[in-house]
Amino acid sequence: MLIDLHAHSDASDGTESPATVMDQAHAAGLDVVALTDHDTTAGWESAAERAAALDLTLVRGIEISCVHDGVSIHLLGYLIDPSHQPLIDELGRARESRATRLERMVAKMAEDDIPITIEDVRQHSQQGATLGRPHIADALVASGYVRDRDEAFADILHSAGRYYVRHYSIEVMRAIELVRAAGGVPVMAHPFASKRGRIVSDDVIREMAQAGLSGIEADHRDHSSEERERAARLAAELDLVRTGSSDYHGTGKPNRLGENTTAPEALEAIEALATSDIRLLRP
Ligand code: AMP
Ligand code: ZN
Ligand code: FE
Ligand code: FE
Repeated sequence: MLIDLHAHSDASDGTESPATVMDQAHAAGLDVVALTDHDTTAGWESAAERAAALDLTLVRGIEISCVHDGVSIHLLGYLIDPSHQPLIDELGRARESRATRLERMVAKMAEDDIPITIEDVRQHSQQGATLGRPHIADALVASGYVRDRDEAFADILHSAGRYYVRHYSIEVMRAIELVRAAGGVPVMAHPFASKRGRIVSDDVIREMAQAGLSGIEADHRDHSSEERERAARLAAELDLVRTGSSDYHGTGKPNRLGENTTAPEALEAIEALATSDIRLLRP
């Protein structure tokens, strides 16, 4: 059983449509894949349609951008009820703020004669998609300013860089409660991915467990083997489900579907913890 619980489509900052992500998951030999776009569930329907036509189980999920004491945290939410109004309100607020924040970043870049406009950025995103820095990166690549997304993030788009502007993010403890209230299962994504910016202490993760966190993503390419062990130790201490995933973004990142995977028992635990009507979609 090959299970990959973290993948993005062009409903956020992946480069492939949700249906194509399903095709690629099938081609990669996965049995189970989760679609976890940033701050949106807009890709669920077309992913579900395609997964049903393939021999593929779909886990409907989301990756919510959160914050705690100024540190950015990504929270995966599996099997949430997408019609839960408080959740819809939060996600709408985040997507709105992401759009104005990209405008502000592009305006700062224009002051330094970096030759892209917000229209260029929009051209590199699907209508209604959750906007993120990768869409600026794609506009920079198209203009010849950088070679790829990675080069853009190394400097121009880095969270510690001069053009960075924050967007509104929900406090992580509240996000955990919200995912639970929507009947879903909250799992902390790539807790120790320090290349992206500051990371939280183990004590914050303990506090998240108190707030209702169900799992932790240990096996992820942004973690060293020591960091995977550290996550596994916390999972054992706090009785959290341990997951592993690719964090696939299509051609936007080198991550390949299935490069890290989750144990069948961990998926069973996630399924058992969900209280919404959203179930795993099995073929
Ligand atoms: P944002 O949502 O605007 O804060 O942008 C963060 C997103 O950029 C995350 O989803 C990452 O997957 C993506 N990202 C971060 N670093 C890189 C990189 N070096 N190359 C490609 N994408 C990246
Ligand atoms: Zn992303
Ligand atoms: Fe993430
Ligand atoms: Fe992700």
